[in-house]
Amino acid sequence: MITALRGTADILPPDTAVWQHVEQCARDVFSRYGFAEIRTPIFEQTELFVRSIGDTTDIVEKEMYTFPDRKGRSITLRPEGTACVVRACLEHKLFAPGKILKFFYTGPMFRYERPQAGRQRQFHQTGVELFGTYSPLADADVIAMMVRFLEHAGVHNVTVQLNTLGDAASRAAYRAALQAFVAPHLPALCEDCQRRAERNVLRVLDCKIPSCKAIFSAPDVPRTTATLSPAAQQHYDGVRRVLDALHIAYIEDPRLVRGLDYYTHTIFEVRHGALGAQDALGGGGRYDNLVHEMGGPQIGGVGFGVGLERLVIALRGAQTAPPQFPPDVALIALDARALQDNLTLADELRRRGLSVLTAYELQSVKAQMRQANSAGVAWVVFQGEDERRQGMVKLKDMRAGAERLCSLDDLLTTLCPQQIR
Ligand code: AMP
Repeated sequence: MITALRGTADILPPDTAVWQHVEQCARDVFSRYGFAEIRTPIFEQTELFVRSIGDTTDIVEKEMYTFPDRKGRSITLRPEGTACVVRACLEHKLFAPGKILKFFYTGPMFRYERPQAGRQRQFHQTGVELFGTYSPLADADVIAMMVRFLEHAGVHNVTVQLNTLGDAASRAAYRAALQAFVAPHLPALCEDCQRRAERNVLRVLDCKIPSCKAIFSAPDVPRTTATLSPAAQQHYDGVRRVLDALHIAYIEDPRLVRGLDYYTHTIFEVRHGALGAQDALGGGGRYDNLVHEMGGPQIGGVGFGVGLERLVIALRGAQTAPPQFPPDVALIALDARALQDNLTLADELRRRGLSVLTAYELQSVKAQMRQANSAGVAWVVFQGEDERRQGMVKLKDMRAGAERLCSLDDLLTTLCPQQIR
């Protein structure tokens, strides 16, 4: 038997209804904030991710699905969305001075990680990117939008972790402080971290190896907030002020760095208690140099990505279940001829917008009623020899329990009152 690859998953009904619900919530909430959907290919030139995410990050070093295509070009399945959106904006010349661009996307991402609960090799993200402003108002607005989206989907009680990496000067000062901290620990670090300490010291803070994690969670690890330039401090103060005004609760975490190189200033992560070890539901930050580094103009941006597998897990533990949409009507056939009559009637009802259960093979009334009940329909319609002779159908209101004979016109008026025929 051929099975799905490790780290991938089929999403089956009724779970697909939950997925549709969260995707619809993303569309609803993001469009209220003026974001429009963008769809980019799921594979790109490898160089795009190496340049944007950073060649010493875990994603680029260990986790990308990279392969040569039939002409020997290096192709990568997208591990994240931001680089793809920036590439598309550059390619289609969407950036212009003074112009704000707001995009959202939803779709699969690919990272070669060790699969576990909440961590897959093909997973899904919905994310947003806002370009064209350096204002801290934009950072706060995007963070608030992420929280409102999660609330709208039914996930409350999230914790927003907030930090800042500052501007280039702040980062250089922080890098030096971290390097000084790391130096005496070098012999105790894993091979990767020893290399990171040389090439890109911030990345030691992403290390997942327990002995390194223990060193880098010590209380004397330098804080990014200790080395901020005055301008960077002002930006950070601005973000916090607006979040306070919006009543978005957050916890400052001066050791949050996030695993991608392109972030500047604000970074944030949203966590949820129901997720266990993989508790990050989503995260993002500001990236003021990314567009320029990818060959475009100097344009600031800020965005986030939310993991949909984890959002669905968090929803399972939430108080409010996502909405279910049972079919409206079940058509019960009392004899073989009624099976075909039911199909014609189902067609009439479906064209009027109703969702209808109907059968292809004759079963006992009991079996058909069992299916109607478990589907949770509001109405049941019976057709058989007697009804056919009288030119009527029997209609049962499942909530009230009442049954009556009615004509086709009467049936349509009762079930589709809003329709003018
Ligand atoms: P990142 O792009 O690494 O900032 O990730 C943003 C969000 O995507 C995370 O908070 C997770 O919810 C989700 N995510 C990242 N990697 C995975 C993965 N391998 N499996 C499932 N979800 C993931």
